Amino acid sequence: MGNAFAENSNAASRSNTTSQILPVPNATTPYWRTELHAIDEHRSTPDLPSSCDIAIIGAGMSGVATAYHIVQAARDANKQIPSIAILEARQVCSGATGRNGGHSKIKATTAMEQIRSAPIEMLKEVWEHVREQPYALKKVVEAEGLECEFELRRTIDAILREEDAGEKKREFLECLEKGYRWTRDTSMVEEKNAEQITSLHNAKLAFTGLACSFWPYKLVSQLLSRLVSRNHVNLQTNTPVTAVTESPEGLNILHTARGLLKAKKVVFATNAYSAGILPSYEGKIVPTRATATHITPKKPISPHLSHTYNINHAVPSTGPERCDYLNPRPDGSIVVGGAQWTYSKDRSKWYNIWDDSSIIDEARPYFEGYMQRYFKGWEDSGAELDSIWTGIIGTTADGRPHIGEVPGSKGRRYIIAGFNGGGMAIILTSTKGLARMIVEGVSFEEVGLPRLFKTTEERLR
Ligand SMILES: Cc1cc2nc3c(=O)[nH]c(=O)nc-3n(C[C@H](O)[C@H](O)[C@H](O)COP(=O)(O)OP(=O)(O)OC[C@H]3O[C@@H](n4cnc5c(N)ncnc54)[C@H](O)[C@@H]3O)c2cc1C
Repeated sequence: MGNAFAENSNAASRSNTTSQILPVPNATTPYWRTELHAIDEHRSTPDLPSSCDIAIIGAGMSGVATAYHIVQAARDANKQIPSIAILEARQVCSGATGRNGGHSKIKATTAMEQIRSAPIEMLKEVWEHVREQPYALKKVVEAEGLECEFELRRTIDAILREEDAGEKKREFLECLEKGYRWTRDTSMVEEKNAEQITSLHNAKLAFTGLACSFWPYKLVSQLLSRLVSRNHVNLQTNTPVTAVTESPEGLNILHTARGLLKAKKVVFATNAYSAGILPSYEGKIVPTRATATHITPKKPISPHLSHTYNINHAVPSTGPERCDYLNPRPDGSIVVGGAQWTYSKDRSKWYNIWDDSSIIDEARPYFEGYMQRYFKGWEDSGAELDSIWTGIIGTTADGRPHIGEVPGSKGRRYIIAGFNGGGMAIILTSTKGLARMIVEGVSFEEVGLPRLFKTTEERLR
């Protein structure tokens, strides 16, 4: 297949101001992309269709779940299913969704931090929205028969420093007293039992809550294959969109090296790369590099680590945050990511960079011997780092995603992007609301999405 990336391959950072933010070729291979689906580089038609009702740019979790819910919304509203095309720059699910930690959760420490940053009534909408996510995901997985190692699990937020433990305990007790919804699913484990329950050396405090663990690539690629086989989506992989302009009659024109596509409505499901084709999001959604790894013991360790983790070496309220995430796989291997602080001082390594074709060298030594260092019972596991990869996060200036109608686009352009480090706890339920906006023409407020997620002119100023 032709390579439409030529201009972008060697210039994936804003230090070269002539380059456009687009996915680069030859990305590092994440563990999640080692068992590829037949749809990975699929094109439904040899040529790009010349027109469609709705064009979705990006075949990650956001793009595919939006398509899925557009079909559902049309059915629910007794409307004809619109023609949908998905244009993906690289392979299916080759962006952040194919490179992440594979768990979806409310992180207790984040919920506590959020209280400092937004009005409580608005946060309650977010917590309620996130609470629905595990059940919504489970329902789609079961309804569509997606084989993606989906599991409802407990997740642990462990605190390793004494001073952080004291602060987080106080904050949690306050939240509990105020009856915030997320505390109903969350238990606190005090120092006396923290090491034993978490299996982490030196754990000083922990919170446990509900999480989903799954293989994100398998979920997304299988869901997309269902949509394609039902002829609900025309999929075009290896087709970067380089610009979106408007025709005199008010149609969107998507520009690609393979030709033009006219669409009544466009959904930008482009996460970290959004500013590349939506300049008003420049500086508001910034691509930042992150690292994750796959670690395998010589033989599976029993008992199995059955929780997912966030391991807080330092919480943000007491200094620069140091947090890893960890997701034990059913075969006994582990996906671990984080280590941002090993290179964070040098912003040229990670900030406003969208190159996932190389790894950040400083991160690798941190993950070597990781399980032996931190986990009880793993000291003699012989666990080894067997793969390391880079992923690009869509970091937003205010820490919130941008969802809804692109300001000033007269109902013709929508965005769902900017998920920072935790989108899988938000995306599915958000796309349900977004799809209703697109199909029924109703407002953001009418579909009941959390107000903090709305993309607005004010947030783009
Ligand atoms: C290392 C890492 C670890 C993470 N860990 C977790 C975790 O454990 N839990 C969690 O909830 N979240 C995690 N996240 C965040 C999570 O992965 C994202 O929030 C989520 O995957 C975003 O999904 P998306 O579909 O919006 O974006 P993506 O999956 O990035 O999809 C966007 C797609 O758009 C395509 N695209 C972009 N521009 C164009 C263009 N111009 N033309 C055509 N196609 C284009 C890209 O190729 C890509 O396939 C992590 C992220 C990273 C990088």
